[in-house]
Amino acid sequence: MIVNNFDHPQKPDKSLQTSNAPLLLAVMMMITATAMVSGCQTDSAAQEEPRVTYVCRETNQIFTGTLQPSPVINPVTGKSTLARGLYCEKCKKWRPAPDPAVFHRNPLSWPCPQHREAMSYDGPIPADAHQID
Ligand SMILES: [Zn+2]
Repeated sequence: MIVNNFDHPQKPDKSLQTSNAPLLLAVMMMITATAMVSGCQTDSAAQEEPRVTYVCRETNQIFTGTLQPSPVINPVTGKSTLARGLYCEKCKKWRPAPDPAVFHRNPLSWPCPQHREAMSYDGPIPADAHQID
């Protein structure tokens, strides 16, 4: 019954335990924090009205506001020149949707005048966009 310590100079069990303890604690804290943050986000998102993007056919200024029946009035000029914004992924630009009196089809099939590709209602809203309401 002689234990020879020189055959096992390393003690992997003990070193693993000591190095894992802080990591486990950190992971548990992260899970708790994530659960708290996501809980708050779902509460506030449920009360928000969806906002859409408008582009002025005259000035090309970009506006955001709730979905309204057209024509939408440009609060800066007072003219009803705002159209739903269509975003071209290639230009990285918002363009006004066509006048429904001129283009009778789905605005989502209206192609970018530069790339000839259909555009989308979804895109990044510029920081300097005006708020309608
Ligand atoms: Zn384009």
